[in-house]
Amino acid sequence: MLLKGKNAIVTGGSRGIGLAIVKELLEEGAAVYYISRSRGEHQKEMENIAESAGTSVYWKEGDVSGESIAEVIDVIIKEAGTVDILINNAGITRDGLIFRMKTDDWDEVLSVNLRSAFFTCRQLARIMIKQRSGVIVNISSIVGITGNAGQTNYSASKAGLIGFSKSLAKEVASRGVRVNVVAPGFVETDMTKKIGEKAREALKAQIPLGRTAQPEEIASAVVFLASDRASYITGQVLIVDGGMAI
Ligand code: NAP
Repeated sequence: MLLKGKNAIVTGGSRGIGLAIVKELLEEGAAVYYISRSRGEHQKEMENIAESAGTSVYWKEGDVSGESIAEVIDVIIKEAGTVDILINNAGITRDGLIFRMKTDDWDEVLSVNLRSAFFTCRQLARIMIKQRSGVIVNISSIVGITGNAGQTNYSASKAGLIGFSKSLAKEVASRGVRVNVVAPGFVETDMTKKIGEKAREALKAQIPLGRTAQPEEIASAVVFLASDRASYITGQVLIVDGGMAI
């Protein structure tokens, strides 16, 4: 087990990629606190995995987009004692061409996808620096690198996460804290369910591996970066996109 005895926080762990990350962290022995606005339908499944791995999973209700998330994290710190791993995964889309995009669509996406990481990292980096160890993995997207028509807000938030993570990596590296980014391509989750069949086929045609990803294929990259197997990796963007951006 790669993460026995570690405490991890995963934002947006109730479903999709976040759920797969929670499950793999548990399988590797970490205790996991996941934050989302709703509990989701997978708590029992997570508890079963936790039990077989000899660890625990906890859900904390919270909205990562506002300053109030600090109170949720305070509770976790009190309960856990310390936090070793932070995965900023919560994210949303509000797609539309720029001339039709409402200011709320811009603000909401930037708040949930980017401002959230500022809040969680500001709070937890202090603790990780003090304990002279810790790992942060932020979930960006391939469109934060390539851009995508109809997603100016989303791409800006995801590109922002990359710049944010590289800067933070430089700030905290000397204290033994690592910060990395995973940039997924097209992953089968609720977020991509709404994409129509025609657009889906067109997207698939751009993927050299010829298929979309399952959430578990993103989770394994995240857990690698969170583990000591990546002990000399910081400030990097690991693209997990089936070759889409080659
Ligand atoms: P998803 O299935 O829609 O799940 C999103 C998760 O985020 C849920 O757990 C949701 O729970 C939580 N969440 C949303 N808003 C929140 C808020 N304000 N506060 C707290 N939690 C919140 O999405 P996904 O596809 O797994 O995406 C996960 C991450 O990967 C996102 O950052 C996304 O941008 C990124 N990504 C996804 C893809 C893809 O193809 N799916 C590709 C590249 C990058 P609640 O709704 O209960 O709060």
